[in-house]
Amino acid sequence: METAKVNLLGLDRQGLEALFTDMGEKAFRASQLLKWIHQFGVDDFDQMTNMSKVLRQRLNEIAEIKAPEVVLDQGSSDGTHKWVLRLDSGNCIETVFIPDGERGTLCVSSQVGCALECSFCSTAQQGFNRNLSSAEIIGQLRAAYQYFGATHRDERIITNVVLMGMGEPLLNFDNVIAAMNIMTDDDSYGLSKRRVTLSTSGVVPAMDRLAEESDVSLAVSLHAPTDELRDELVPLNKKYPIKELIEACNRYAHAGTAKRKITFEYVMLDGVNDSSEHARQLVKVLKGVPCKVNLIPFNPFPESQYRRSSQKVITRFWEILMAAGITTVTRRTRGDDIDAACGQLVGKVMDKTKRQERKVMIQSGRT
Ligand code: SAH
Repeated sequence: METAKVNLLGLDRQGLEALFTDMGEKAFRASQLLKWIHQFGVDDFDQMTNMSKVLRQRLNEIAEIKAPEVVLDQGSSDGTHKWVLRLDSGNCIETVFIPDGERGTLCVSSQVGCALECSFCSTAQQGFNRNLSSAEIIGQLRAAYQYFGATHRDERIITNVVLMGMGEPLLNFDNVIAAMNIMTDDDSYGLSKRRVTLSTSGVVPAMDRLAEESDVSLAVSLHAPTDELRDELVPLNKKYPIKELIEACNRYAHAGTAKRKITFEYVMLDGVNDSSEHARQLVKVLKGVPCKVNLIPFNPFPESQYRRSSQKVITRFWEILMAAGITTVTRRTRGDDIDAACGQLVGKVMDKTKRQERKVMIQSGRT
């Protein structure tokens, strides 16, 4: 049987250096390859003219550059763009580009579906199939550049990347780290670490590991100021309750040399977590944490049981946090006309958790 070829798209500098060293080649080949793959968008080793013919031939034998295929792209009236990428026979993921003045943010998925069951998120309703490979994660950034017909060299269309698409990035740790390494490498996309943000529901042990292995910006999906309420919205809270989560945030903020501010995401759900009392409780929870807060107006999806808080309620909540000295911004809803807004990404998930079936059974009174 033919052994599978190694996909170089997902290898970071360290991975490529190891590969070349094993081949008896010099480590600087890694720089050349990163540039070909990511800056010039080349898939074919034969076009890599600064490598010898013999080397190119050997690469052809053992390696490949294989990107997920874009099967659909859709533009929103506000400039937001969404791509659906096919990974294998049954699975698709979604990636979203959000332009905002000088800034262009790409929202990247890390898993096919999601294993966490946050009650207000449509990805959660899809169930879970598998982790994305590092090639499938970085492939989303590369596909977006290719769609715009640009290479990284020409124009910096994408200035920021947020791991806020489908999935929980910290439950796919190694592949996410490799992909983020490629995002920030000067020979590929050269994004500054500050401009790559990983968003987590609060996988506490992995947050500590992240602090050791990376210094990207961290966003934490908090959504509630008490364990009672957070248990309901983000069931992972039962495993890692708020106190432990906040301690981990403090450790992350103070790890490394530069003090890092944590961004807390807080989805505004009408009548659920949006009262003045909740805001005051939140101020207490966040006391002493170097942070800012991002209020996200809830984005509805089919069968969602929640409603978005009114603008008046969001403003009042915002005022209470600001008065307490916490920098707070309300995230503007973008791309909701093409279901590309936060919490609306569904892709196509061959669910292994049988969540959809369970739901139908519950709805029809069978459990
Ligand atoms: N699993 C990670 C990454 C997903 S990020 C995390 O939970 O952080 C997606 C962000 O959008 C999270 O803050 C999530 O809580 C928020 N979100 C999910 N569903 C939403 C919805 N329906 N409306 C608004 N925001 C939502």
